[in-house]
Amino acid sequence: MIMAVAPEFMPRVRRNEPMSRHTSWHAGGPAEVYFEPRDRTDLASFLRALPRDTAILWLGLGSNLLVRDGGLRGVVIATSGALERLERVSETTVYAEAGVACARIARQCIKWGLGPAEFFAGIPGTVGGALAMNAGAFGGETWTHVVEVETLDRRGRQHTRAAGEYTASYRHVRAPVEEEWFVATKLTFERRPQANEVEVKALLARRKASQPIGEWSCGSVFMNPPGDHAARLIEDAGLKGARIGDASVSVKHANFIINHGNARAADLEGLIHYVQEAVERQHGVRLDTEVRIVGEPD
Ligand SMILES: Cc1cc2nc3c(=O)[nH]c(=O)nc-3n(C[C@H](O)[C@H](O)[C@H](O)COP(=O)(O)OP(=O)(O)OC[C@H]3O[C@@H](n4cnc5c(N)ncnc54)[C@H](O)[C@@H]3O)c2cc1C
Repeated sequence: MIMAVAPEFMPRVRRNEPMSRHTSWHAGGPAEVYFEPRDRTDLASFLRALPRDTAILWLGLGSNLLVRDGGLRGVVIATSGALERLERVSETTVYAEAGVACARIARQCIKWGLGPAEFFAGIPGTVGGALAMNAGAFGGETWTHVVEVETLDRRGRQHTRAAGEYTASYRHVRAPVEEEWFVATKLTFERRPQANEVEVKALLARRKASQPIGEWSCGSVFMNPPGDHAARLIEDAGLKGARIGDASVSVKHANFIINHGNARAADLEGLIHYVQEAVERQHGVRLDTEVRIVGEPD
């Protein structure tokens, strides 16, 4: 059955949009309906017009997402390019909409003399994705800086919620209610007049030396178990270079899985399971995925 979309949005939605175009792994089946809103008002109207039971997936830059080859039912809402406002609203507070790239926050905070925001330079996603994941790098974490968030619910109603209504932990955020998505946040930083690009460049260079940056990946596939590193466990299990189809465990950093060009989502997911089982057999530790796996199998 073809999903109903209100007539005014019909010319603007894309049907059967390949998600391989919108994920950093460059793999995955089609979204039934793919929508790029013009702005927040447009997005709220679109949500209001959706049939009640429609499945909704919000998408940032797809840098932490594995969409299965059978694709996604319902609608994908792309925030990047739409929700792009970034401004300083007080001496130490920054207002960022969900589609703003994290790297832009890092750069802009340096210009404003605010920090520590350099860690955002290491996260190749949007603010919305960083809020959903509590993304972190180089010792910094998104929710440490959140003052409040603005959300939309499935009826297109906006809510403002204090950071304290959410429970954020390592790569995990528990929301006070289901089915509200981030449209913006206020982030607080300290005055750091000395903050500069040199430090960011040094952090990124360090990372480039140890991670396969530039290849098709989703960053770290697995979360670190308490007191240990997923990469160490995977490497110790002799899994560097393990391959299914065109997907392989990176030889540079064992917690990365690379798509060498033609991997299907099933290859990537198959390799994820293979690694999980091998590590559990060898070390007795079950690795949980950091990457979000969504959609239907082929
Ligand atoms: C090379 C590389 C390096 C990486 N390094 C790091 C790192 O150092 N630290 C780190 O934490 N991560 C890292 N990542 C993973 C990834 O960049 C982060 O998880 C990032 O926060 C995901 O943002 P995104 O916009 O791409 O989200 P997406 O991948 O598009 O979505 C991720 C999840 O967030 C949800 N989501 C997206 N936008 C919203 C919204 N507005 N409201 C509600 N939910 C939303 C999606 O539905 C999905 O469940 C890396 C990835 C790559 C490819």
